[in-house]
Amino acid sequence: MIGMEQLVSLCKRRGFIFPSSEIYGGFQSTYDYGPLGTLLKNNIKAAWWRAVVQERFDMEPLDASILMHPRVWEASGHVAVFNDPLVDCKACQGRFRADHVWYVEAVRGDQSASYAIDAGEPDEAEAKAREKYQIGKRFEVRLQPMLVDAAEGTPHICPNCGATDSFTEPRAFNMMFRTEVGAVAGSIAYLRPETAQGIFVNYDNVLTTMRRKLPFGIAQVGKAFRNEIVTGNFTFRTREFEQMEIEYFCWPEDGARLHQEWIDARLGWYQRYGISADNLDLYEHPDAKRSHYSTRTVDIMYRFPMGFSELEGIANRTDFDLTQHGEYSGHTLDYFETKTERRVVPHVIEPSAGVDRAVLAFLTEAYEEEQLTNQKGQADNRTVLRFHPALAPVKAAVMPLARNRQELVDAAMDLAGQLKPHFTTQYDDTGSIGRLYRRQDEIGTLYCITVDHQTVDDDGQVTIRDRDTMEQIRLPREEVLGWLQERITT
Ligand code: ATP
Repeated sequence: MIGMEQLVSLCKRRGFIFPSSEIYGGFQSTYDYGPLGTLLKNNIKAAWWRAVVQERFDMEPLDASILMHPRVWEASGHVAVFNDPLVDCKACQGRFRADHVWYVEAVRGDQSASYAIDAGEPDEAEAKAREKYQIGKRFEVRLQPMLVDAAEGTPHICPNCGATDSFTEPRAFNMMFRTEVGAVAGSIAYLRPETAQGIFVNYDNVLTTMRRKLPFGIAQVGKAFRNEIVTGNFTFRTREFEQMEIEYFCWPEDGARLHQEWIDARLGWYQRYGISADNLDLYEHPDAKRSHYSTRTVDIMYRFPMGFSELEGIANRTDFDLTQHGEYSGHTLDYFETKTERRVVPHVIEPSAGVDRAVLAFLTEAYEEEQLTNQKGQADNRTVLRFHPALAPVKAAVMPLARNRQELVDAAMDLAGQLKPHFTTQYDDTGSIGRLYRRQDEIGTLYCITVDHQTVDDDGQVTIRDRDTMEQIRLPREEVLGWLQERITT
């Protein structure tokens, strides 16, 4: 499996993800999606839209604005409680999320040593501690939360400098970015910390204009902003990120069942696009960790390079959101069924996924290094990104066998031009065929199509090479489009 450093380096080298403002030295864990990253991300979002809206009868799309009425964030609870507890180390000025600091004990028989580590999840904490403190495999690692929900007497050790009892008291830190709107000072607005609220405030608009009945859902993709105290693990936790969110409105008595159905559907979606079941897990939030209004919250976890971590959260939020917005706006957001004369505030199931985390997961999953033997019998390595056909950023690459023969270049350009309206297709003549194949494998291109002397001099056939099997077939060039269309599934 790919390590985080390898992944970061591949993303940079092959044009998937760059550090933002790089020529200025980068900026605070912000990232830009390069040409291939943009294509991959768009394909992931398209696959999501397809599954959650296009293929269903009960879903509507929405695209709400990032800036909203400030009262929205009072109603949602974000102004009052969207806080992470923050602590500083007085010795080294390191800053940590209090719920991300772990006390670590490495134990083997009667040998033991203790350390501290900062990490979001236990899996990650163990992996990080083993690496940082060179804890051997034979040692068992025991973790305890150090500052939040800590057992009495847990020592306080700074994960950065090792000082003891050097933390400040945890203090609340609101994670919303504030900004001013218009020319008049003091007109505060927030950059949305989640896309969900744009859906709730449009619940009634969508219900009435689309003539919907319960149950139905609204889906939205968009940027969200959180002033995270600690960012990290590449694009896993950043301050600007993108979400794919669904609010599914239903009768209260159907909530538990539909919640489970959405968990199954979302798990199925990741598998449909190539994530293996072994690398997925579910985490049930215990009562203490769940918001007071949620009756059940389940996270879909993925085995990222730093360990199992949250990919998507799926919560049963009951009637909390619509009740709150009803009260704060004065606009009743209940639902009336004429036939039964029944009036309810609908319950809401919320599957909320991170686009950037999905990109990271699909990249991690697709990465493979293969040991091959070349024609001379020598060992040869190949790096390949085995993306699902729908997600692969580039579907086909067309290349002339020799770029110094104009007819080959023209024929290859002509074929690429025919494919371009249908799929993302690259034309490439910047190296030997062997090298071009490897380059395309490394970005996950499904098919390489080579135009050679025979194509123009003789039979009009081209060679198509399959990314996964590396098998090659010959096909008349006018059949290439149809052949690809049959194989590039959505
Ligand atoms: P975490 O516990 O990792 O901070 P969360 O539980 O606060 O995440 P939610 O509020 O449930 O996250 O947001 C839904 C989804 O949005 C997450 O599952 C994740 O995929 C994505 N997400 C949340 N915060 C970030 C972030 N800072 N960077 C990238 N993606 C994020």
